[in-house]
Amino acid sequence: MAKKHKGRAIGIDLGTTYSCVAAWEEQNGRAEIIVNDQGNRTTPSFVAFTDSHRFIGDAAKNQAAANPSNTIFDAKRLIGRKYKDPTIQNDLHLWPFKVVSGVDDKPMIMVNYKGKEKCLAAEEISSMILTKMKEIAEAYMESSVYNAVITVPAYFNDSQRKATKDAGIIAGLNVIRIINEPTAAALAYGLQKRAHCSGKRNVFIFDLGGGTFDVSLVTIKGDNIEVKATAGDTHLGGEDFDNRMVSHLVQQFKRKNRVDITGNPRALRRLRNECEKAKRTLSHTNETTIEIDALFQGIEFHFSVTRARFEELNWDLFEKCMEIAQKCLYDAKMEKREIHDVVLVGGSSRIPKVQSLLQNFFEGKDLCKSINPDEAVAFGATVQAALLSKDYSIVPTLVLVDVTPLSLAEDYQSAVPINVYEGERTKASDNNLLGMFLLSGLPRVFRGHPFNVYFELDFDGILKVRAEDETTGSKNGITITNEKGRLSSAEIKRMIEEAASFREEDKKFKKIVKAKNDLDEYIYWMEKAMKDFDVSSKVSASEKQRIMAALREGERLLQSEHQTEASVFENYLNNLHNICQPICQQGPWIQ
Ligand code: ADP
Ligand code: MG
Repeated sequence: MAKKHKGRAIGIDLGTTYSCVAAWEEQNGRAEIIVNDQGNRTTPSFVAFTDSHRFIGDAAKNQAAANPSNTIFDAKRLIGRKYKDPTIQNDLHLWPFKVVSGVDDKPMIMVNYKGKEKCLAAEEISSMILTKMKEIAEAYMESSVYNAVITVPAYFNDSQRKATKDAGIIAGLNVIRIINEPTAAALAYGLQKRAHCSGKRNVFIFDLGGGTFDVSLVTIKGDNIEVKATAGDTHLGGEDFDNRMVSHLVQQFKRKNRVDITGNPRALRRLRNECEKAKRTLSHTNETTIEIDALFQGIEFHFSVTRARFEELNWDLFEKCMEIAQKCLYDAKMEKREIHDVVLVGGSSRIPKVQSLLQNFFEGKDLCKSINPDEAVAFGATVQAALLSKDYSIVPTLVLVDVTPLSLAEDYQSAVPINVYEGERTKASDNNLLGMFLLSGLPRVFRGHPFNVYFELDFDGILKVRAEDETTGSKNGITITNEKGRLSSAEIKRMIEEAASFREEDKKFKKIVKAKNDLDEYIYWMEKAMKDFDVSSKVSASEKQRIMAALREGERLLQSEHQTEASVFENYLNNLHNICQPICQQGPWIQ
């Protein structure tokens, strides 16, 4: 069985708040979303550190209220950026964890793990989430996974793309390609196939996720998928809708019980978790109830929320989404009627009101929503992975070219150095300098002397620039490696080793949990047996005493916080098996 899936590539949507993984199902010729160990189809992009353990995904998010300063999320907002980047500076006060400036002004996340201060790069946090997604896929496929396509937002620059690729390498993945999230969504719906039949296709991708809102206008022509324009809001998404519901319910609770929970982070966190669940429920029902035991000062929380109330609380935010959609069309100089397809992406675009507003905006047009919006990106990444894997002959071959959405400005000097910038600003120096090269072997040239400059983006969105002077035939070029701020190969090697030691520790922890559970379960059954008259009446008084003492001792062992070796529990269980032999012979308690 393991052999069958060997070398199968997966697609990973590495999201700001949730991540999703899928694999190609050859039998059905489609991508299959893989559920995690909790049975969920998306996994929180959270990593947490405690005195004894590291948690990733649901387990990390679930303990966030109790351990806020060591529960890390939003790594995607940090990756590939400098600490001094204004977006990081603005977000710093929103994070309950500490971020400091490291070597080359790289943002470093400080955590306390096993009683020691640890300093982690965003690439390492992202690599832990990718490792989790890899393991989810491995459990499903019953074999190791190596090749993966990972998605990034269309607006990610060169450095953010490379840092994401590095995160994949640290997670032990071979990143076969980095693709844009809107491109993946278009691929999920097979829109490139439709473009083959109908010529050029303009696709509007509406991605309303957990923390961010992104719209993109993508044009598909032949084999090229090109991002024409992007717009969005980096702080608009599901979490804002949750917060609106939290504020509303805090007020209601105050009115009813005359107590204010705003100063109590734990109560707020518990309420926020329940609000997120209620919000999801309201996407398919008209009313739901939120009940929380002893939320504050022992008072039970019990309120119902209607879909209408939820919509009213978020009305202005939904409107804002439509304004941003309009701006994207405007930037792309396109009319609504020129759009062939509108694709829903992101968990929050499951909200019925958001869907109806968008449909009205596009004058009643049907929306592409047959794939769950929060799964469409992983789905499309998997289609791309399948296209790249030679073993899947049924998938038509297609070449994708994602065009960098940031305009490129070239600054000609009077002499021959050519500076390459990325960015939208009119003044070259306001943009981000990617690199510089010299076009030499020329006669004396004046400012304004025309050169041909060619830009070439490779499949991962990594840039090559060539310049050529037609009069002399002189040529030169540069590949923008942008190594500054990127992890060195020595650092990556160290992080890979560290990732291996983390995995070892996780394995050890799982082993202990299993050994403790086994022992706990055995004690439970033996105690039950001892209470059963039929069984205990057949065991001598001294044996009974011996067994009861051994069970008590086992319970004490389970409660001891000093035991950190699985073998201690395993050995004790073996020992108990022998001691409990007389009662095991009496009934069908444990086979
Ligand atoms: P990301 O933005 O990290 O890429 P997703 O696209 O998965 O993540 O979006 C996550 C957000 O979607 C969360 O805020 C979650 O509460 C929200 N969400 C998920 N399912 C639903 C639903 N059925 N109704 C409303 N919101 C939902
Ligand atoms: Mg997303």
